[in-house]
Amino acid sequence: MVSEKMYELGSKRSAIRELFEYGKKRAAIVGKENVYDFSIGNPTVPAPTCVKESIMELLENMDSSLIHGYTSAQGDAETREAIARYLNNRYALNVKADHFYMTCGAAASLCITLRALTERKEDEFVVIAPFFPEYRVFIESQGATFRMVPADTKAFQINFEALEETINPHTKGVIINSPNNPSGTIYSEETINKLATLLERKSAEYGHPIMLISDEPYREIAYDDVQVPYVTKYYKNTIVCYSYSKSLSLPGERIGYILVPDEVENSKAVYAAVCGAGRALGYVCAPSLFQKVIAKCVGQTGDIDLYKKNRDLLYENLTAYGYECVKPQGAFYLFMKALEEDAKAFCERAKAYDLLLVAADDFGCPGYVRVSYCVEEEMIKRSFSAFEKLAQSYKS
Ligand code: PLP
Repeated sequence: MVSEKMYELGSKRSAIRELFEYGKKRAAIVGKENVYDFSIGNPTVPAPTCVKESIMELLENMDSSLIHGYTSAQGDAETREAIARYLNNRYALNVKADHFYMTCGAAASLCITLRALTERKEDEFVVIAPFFPEYRVFIESQGATFRMVPADTKAFQINFEALEETINPHTKGVIINSPNNPSGTIYSEETINKLATLLERKSAEYGHPIMLISDEPYREIAYDDVQVPYVTKYYKNTIVCYSYSKSLSLPGERIGYILVPDEVENSKAVYAAVCGAGRALGYVCAPSLFQKVIAKCVGQTGDIDLYKKNRDLLYENLTAYGYECVKPQGAFYLFMKALEEDAKAFCERAKAYDLLLVAADDFGCPGYVRVSYCVEEEMIKRSFSAFEKLAQSYKS
């Protein structure tokens, strides 16, 4: 009566959501202050003041039918122009309003892009572990085949040997995400250059372009002046999937975009297919009020220093307790090695101390856990004795 696949997706929560719900139940029993929930990636840093000011100004001064009415399917021209202007100034690009398709966050950007590129079931999209688990859902539900490259657990850049082995004549695209959820690392310029060279070589070998899909909701969340290379400058067949969920702390407003630059082979056809996929999936006309907010707030961010403070606090203390951690360069996740081989068992044991950590098995990286630190600083401080006791429990 219903699609088995959709039934399965709808009736089984993700491991992260499962843990988040468990945390709420636990809080009702032991008190919210005694549960250390590092499960979910919901920004705690407030949206910058320009967001509230723009909303107020728009509501005061703009005609209601303009604020709340339909926009063009691909989004308001003014919003797309404002984003193009900002990116051209910031990264010395040459993109135009017509290259953008406004969407409902990165999830919609990715689904639309994958739908636009997929021609047949044999088409494969490659993801690099550790990766955002929804990629598998997005790829398979657009009718394509999911392929994974195991993690480079030394530097958490890209395991190029494995990538080279994974790419084949069916490879339609590769998805990258930097700053990365869950590892917190940023792909260096050297990595992006190496990736571009490999994809160019493979595209030439197979006689079709292998698209690079750059999923960038954390682009602005980078610490210590580490640069996040703008990928379209290194590889011409790049499509950018962007979201304001994290940079402007607006995850519930569902706003972002897809960028198909002119340099993409057959860019006009690819852009038309993006518009078609947006239409087919029902993602036309992204939320109108927030398109107008973006036009006014483009280039602004929440206070990233607050995340950096959390990063420093966690990293210093957890390493002092003996945890092996990847030092996050960006995003708001700390990736650490579980203290036993089975990360799920480790996370179960952590629950006994009311520490909610996510095993990275679903991120394609067994043996590791993700600690999401977009949380209150006070909660991090309160959690330290639990982390210490958990580490101790493995020594005794
Ligand atoms: N991609 C990555 C790597 C993410 O971490 C997330 C959300 O956490 C998304 C995509 C989806 O973002 P959005 O809320 O903008 O749909």
